[in-house]
Amino acid sequence: MTELRSPLRQGRRDGALADSGALIGAARAGDPRALARLVSLVENAAPELRPILAAIAPLTGQARVVGLTGSPGVGKSTVTSALVAAYRARGLRVGVLAVDPTSPFSGGALLGDRVRMQEHATDDGVFIRSMASRGHLGGLSWATPQAVRLLDGAGFELIMIETVGVGQAEVEIASLADSTLVVVAPGMGDSVQAAKAGILEIADIFAVNKIDRPGAQEAIRDLRTMLAMARYGEGEWRPPIVAMSAATGEGVDELVTRLDGHWAWLAESGERGSRRKARAREEVSAIAVTALRARMGGLPGNSRLDELAGLVAEGELDPYSAADQLIDG
Ligand code: GDP
Repeated sequence: MTELRSPLRQGRRDGALADSGALIGAARAGDPRALARLVSLVENAAPELRPILAAIAPLTGQARVVGLTGSPGVGKSTVTSALVAAYRARGLRVGVLAVDPTSPFSGGALLGDRVRMQEHATDDGVFIRSMASRGHLGGLSWATPQAVRLLDGAGFELIMIETVGVGQAEVEIASLADSTLVVVAPGMGDSVQAAKAGILEIADIFAVNKIDRPGAQEAIRDLRTMLAMARYGEGEWRPPIVAMSAATGEGVDELVTRLDGHWAWLAESGERGSRRKARAREEVSAIAVTALRARMGGLPGNSRLDELAGLVAEGELDPYSAADQLIDG
């Protein structure tokens, strides 16, 4: 296990700022090694993150963030790849972060080993990266928004976050996106599971993928039935269902149209600003909580915590007062 470092500790190396300036410049110019290094800084909670995030702050807020989730095998990578191609055709720079909330590994064989992304491998306007989310302080909610922010600052106009559907983690990822796409496929009991996992609430668009396979009509019908039971207020977004086959390309254009429609709705309704503010709130509190935890004993050798824990264990102090003293200290 790598050493846990506080993400809030200032990078003090001489020239750290100059280094980060060069790194940002290279990343904005599309240098894939610079981009990979930026994401690694997040994964390692490196101290250089602080000056870099400070430097790129004025450049951020431009990217459109699309979250994409669903059970393993429904075709997320294939759908992502089709969307990358569609948005590349418009000339947008596209970043893809594949986050597997169950895996502590990064950079490697995650999420169907990215084979279906290979067609974009030589395109400088596309950056694809698997990201570890477990195994370091703060986890998913700490790392992903910062990686998104770095890609945003590096000039990516569309950022896709792809996650495996495993309940809470994907709900967390959805809160980072402007638009959340939930992918289901026929014959996997997905739509029923989706309802259980609270996916109906997070989906802005449903894609029923693999309509070339048997059972697609049933999957669409199940989803329609469930959506029909939901209540929507005046002017509220109603998630459309897109029937598609990422493998054959059928329905990809409609999916793009729906995503663009949602993007436009976000702006008209004012929801874009409020979602982004909610996102920033999560980001700031994740950083603050991580820093607090590190300070209070997430790191080994916090003697004040040991001392207070001893008092609580012996009944000399109640845990609330101990916590207050810890925070105040
Ligand atoms: P993920 O695990 O959700 O990312 O799914 P993948 O994109 O890796 O796809 C899983 C499998 O389904 C692969 O073998 C794909 O080739 C296949 N697949 C993806 N989209 C379609 C589709 O529209 N139709 C069919 N028949 N197969 C598809």
